[in-house]
Amino acid sequence: MSRFLSERFFSLSPYVPGEQPQDRSYVKLNTNESPFPPSPRVAERLSAFEAEKLNLYSDPTAKELADAIVEFFNNDLVRRGEKKFFTRENVITGNGSDEILAFIFQAFCDHNKGMACPEVGYGCYPVYCSVQGIPLVSVPMTEDLGVDVAGFEGIKENITIANPNAQTGLYLSVSDIKTLLSENRSRLVVVDEAYVDFGAESVAPLIREFDNLIVVRTLSKSRQLAGGRIGFALASQELISDLEMMKYSFNPYNLNRLSILAGTEAMRDEEYFDCTRKQIIEIREESKAILADMGFCVTDSLANFILAKKVGIGGKELYLALKEKGVLVRFLSDKKLSDYVRITIGSKEQMTLLYQKIREVLKEKNL
Ligand SMILES: *Cc1c(COP(=O)(O)O)cnc(C)c1O
Repeated sequence: MSRFLSERFFSLSPYVPGEQPQDRSYVKLNTNESPFPPSPRVAERLSAFEAEKLNLYSDPTAKELADAIVEFFNNDLVRRGEKKFFTRENVITGNGSDEILAFIFQAFCDHNKGMACPEVGYGCYPVYCSVQGIPLVSVPMTEDLGVDVAGFEGIKENITIANPNAQTGLYLSVSDIKTLLSENRSRLVVVDEAYVDFGAESVAPLIREFDNLIVVRTLSKSRQLAGGRIGFALASQELISDLEMMKYSFNPYNLNRLSILAGTEAMRDEEYFDCTRKQIIEIREESKAILADMGFCVTDSLANFILAKKVGIGGKELYLALKEKGVLVRFLSDKKLSDYVRITIGSKEQMTLLYQKIREVLKEKNL
């Protein structure tokens, strides 16, 4: 710490991202990235990019990307037999959904209006609260690690929930989210749908009825663009315009030219999106069965990861043993989850190797 650091950050503990080791090559199943490359249309578009254009700023409205997002969500409504609804005024894009979340906390919370989050969830929420001086209300989980909807009753703070939840992969139904939204319309409900494309139902259509709902999405997980840093939010025009104000007060050109192109093509290629997410779902379901066969207890995750634990071996112990063998999974420091490892769903080949290495570890430890 330098002697210049502001006093208000003396006790700040920043988010610790999963390891991105560069020393050797691992089968990397620790940060919920996709094992697949982005849509081939992304590579095509980027290779046609003229690097000379980088002398000019990117489009601060990221219009092309916003239009592709609007089209994707309207297509979804049309497929359900409903009318198109979304316009560009319902969308804000950002440098990863992390940036969008930071804007949300900043715009709608302060020392009088805190944020309520489930006790187990995405690690960035408490950090945004502490860096921005926002009181955090932590709502305990149900016995089986689910988000306790009833636990939010009577809470006056805004609410942020990852759904499916980070760490556990467990999810709330649309009607549960509706309960949170309608119980008190003067609190915002932010639903972080980073993992929704792997089998859960989105609440994006509820934006038509609820002006206290913000849906946050990322292209990092189901669209293979973690390194592109692209996220967005959908909400009423009024909420989006508040968030735009944050963006223009902080970093107007938050998306660079390359990310705008990559994101646009990834949103447009619905066929590739469907095909890759279906494969992840299939491999995930298979992995639940295989690990259960090995005696693991596995959460019924609807995300692109699973949480698994086995009597006789702690999370950290298994994580270290697998790391030694060249497979990286995530050990979670949260006390409630310290028996588990979190395993990102990889390709069939990666998962086969994981099972093999787990069997080796269990054998070595006589389990
Ligand atoms: C991965 C993740 C994010 C961050 O996404 P980026 O767009 O890569 O910043 C946000 N929320 C949850 C719950 C996540 O799992």
